[in-house]
Amino acid sequence: MSLLQGPPETARHDAASISGTADTRPDCPECRARFVPRHPGQLFCTAAHRDAWNNRQTVRGRVLTPLVMVARETRNGTRGDRVTGARAASQAATLMQRHRDEDRAAGRLSHPEYLARRYRAGFDPL
Ligand SMILES: [Zn+2]
Repeated sequence: MSLLQGPPETARHDAASISGTADTRPDCPECRARFVPRHPGQLFCTAAHRDAWNNRQTVRGRVLTPLVMVARETRNGTRGDRVTGARAASQAATLMQRHRDEDRAAGRLSHPEYLARRYRAGFDPL
């Protein structure tokens, strides 16, 4: 039995471990290609991919922000305007699931991992 059997991810990891040539370059959240950063904290391979990511998030955010704010303020429809709060919470959850599925299908980085990278790069929105 070969050590390289198994899912592709495992095989690639094993091959890199065995040969000592693990690729430590970061991968682009948008296209997942490895690249050499030109400055510290660079998250994307190109400005085009950074803009594609950010523009998509801007469009999504315009719709999600009011829904998430109402959902939070009404504790998902258990305080204040319960009808509106529950509707906003449900729609926000549906949209976020849809965005996650779209990102997954397109091979993009997950949002938790993307935010973790931004935090490590010094991101502080407060
Ligand atoms: Zn890229």
